[in-house]
Amino acid sequence: MADEGLVPWRQLALGMAMPEAGSAKRFNTGDWRGKRYPVTDRDKCIKCGLCWITCPDMAYLPDESAEGYYKWDSYYCKGCGICIAECPKQAIEWREEKEEDKYGPACGS
Ligand code: SF4
Ligand code: SF4
Repeated sequence: MADEGLVPWRQLALGMAMPEAGSAKRFNTGDWRGKRYPVTDRDKCIKCGLCWITCPDMAYLPDESAEGYYKWDSYYCKGCGICIAECPKQAIEWREEKEEDKYGPACGS
C-alpha cells in the first residue's frame, strides 16, 4: 500500500473530533456567515430564551445589562437562521451585512 502512495487508516487525522476540551470556542464560526445577520426587535421579544437554547453556536447569551434579553455575538453566528425560525414572536429578522460591517455589530438588537 505504501508503494501506491496511500496512507494506512491508522495514520489518518481524526475527522469531526475536538482534540481537547473547550477547543470549539476558538473556531470563528462567524466567518462562515453570508451577507446577512439576525437582529432582534426587543419590543417584540418575550424573553423566552429559545434563540439562546437553539443556536448551535451559542451566538446568543444572556445580556447582563438587560435582564431577560439575549445579546448576539458576531464572532460565533454562522448565519444559519435557526433563531429566526424558532422565535415564537418573529422578533428576529435578517439584516443585510456589508463586508466592512462583518464584525461590527456587537449586539443584534
Ligand atoms: S426566541 Fe425570540 S422571543 Fe424568545 S428570547 Fe429570543 S428573540 Fe426573544
Ligand atoms: S443565525 Fe441565529 S441560530 Fe444561527 S448561528 Fe446565528 S444566532 Fe445562532
